[in-house]
Amino acid sequence: MRPTFALAAMALCLLAAPGRDAVAVEPAQQTGVERGVLPMRWTAESPDCGTAPAFLVHEYNPTFYILRQSGCTNFEKPFLYLLLGTKEALLVDTGAAGARVSPVVEELLRRHSQRQRTPVLSLLVVHSHGHGDHTAGDADLSQMPGARVVAASAEALAKFFAIKNWPRQIAQHDLGDRVLDIVPIPGHEAASIAIYDRRTGTLLTGDTVYPGRLYVRDAADFVESVGRLVEFTATREVVHVLGAHIENTRTPYLDYPRGTTFQPEEHVLELGRAHLLELQDALRQMGGGVIRRSFRDFTVWPFGQ
Ligand SMILES: [Zn+2]
Ligand SMILES: [Zn+2]
Repeated sequence: MRPTFALAAMALCLLAAPGRDAVAVEPAQQTGVERGVLPMRWTAESPDCGTAPAFLVHEYNPTFYILRQSGCTNFEKPFLYLLLGTKEALLVDTGAAGARVSPVVEELLRRHSQRQRTPVLSLLVVHSHGHGDHTAGDADLSQMPGARVVAASAEALAKFFAIKNWPRQIAQHDLGDRVLDIVPIPGHEAASIAIYDRRTGTLLTGDTVYPGRLYVRDAADFVESVGRLVEFTATREVVHVLGAHIENTRTPYLDYPRGTTFQPEEHVLELGRAHLLELQDALRQMGGGVIRRSFRDFTVWPFGQ
C-alpha cells in the first residue's frame, strides 16, 4: 500500500501547488524534461464490463497520451502511446483484437487541434513489435485520412527510419519540436524497437521490458538488445521506462495468470533504468542462454516454455 499512498500524496501536491495545473509541463529545473503525471491505477473500479470503455485514455501531459485497452475487450490489455509534435503525431501500436482505437485517436487529435488552434496533425503509426496484440488495429488505422502505417517488420522499419545497420544503429525521427530516438531491440520479436522521447525522458520498451513476463524468442539478440538499452540510457535522463503490458501484481515476484482480464492489484506500469540494469545482470548470470526466473518486478521467460 505504501507506494500507492506516496503516489497519491504526490498527485495531491501537484494539484495543490498554487498557480500550477495538475499536469505540469514546464521544464523541471534539475532535468530539463517535460514532466507529466501517471494515474493511480489503470484498471476499472469493478470487473463489470457493461459500462467499461474499450480504451482508458490518460493524459500524461498535453502532448503525451497513454491508452490502455480494457481487459473486457482482450485479456492482453495492451498499452498504446500517442505522442504529439508540431508537425506530426505518432501512435505506438494499434491494439489487440476486440476493440477499435481509431475513433479514440481521431478524437484526441481533434481535441489537440482545437486546443492549439492548428490543423489536425497527420498520424504516423509504428509498432513496438509485430505481435498481434499490438498490430490488430493496423487495417483500421490505415483507413484514417492522412495516416501512414509502417509495417511491423525489421525491413520496413529499417527503410522508414533509414537504418542501414539494423539492429545496431539508432535512428532519429522528428515529429516537430519532438525528436525521438528509435532503438532496435530484437529478441522478444524480430521487429522490436524501443522509442525514447527526448521531451519527456520517457523510454517506451514494448514487450521487451515491462512489469510482467518477458518472453524471449532469441536469447542472443535479447541479450544484445538489453545491453544496447543500458548503454543508450547511460547518457540520458530516463524518467520512466514504459512497456506494453502489466502482468505482475503489487506483490513482489507474483504475477497474474495468463488470461486474467481484471487486475485490481496490478503492479504500476512505470519501471526505471535500474530495471534495465537488473535485467542485464540477470542475463549475465544466465551465461548467454535464457532460463525462466522471476525477479521482483518481472520474469524472464524463454518463449514457448
Ligand atoms: Zn509481444
Ligand atoms: Zn504483447
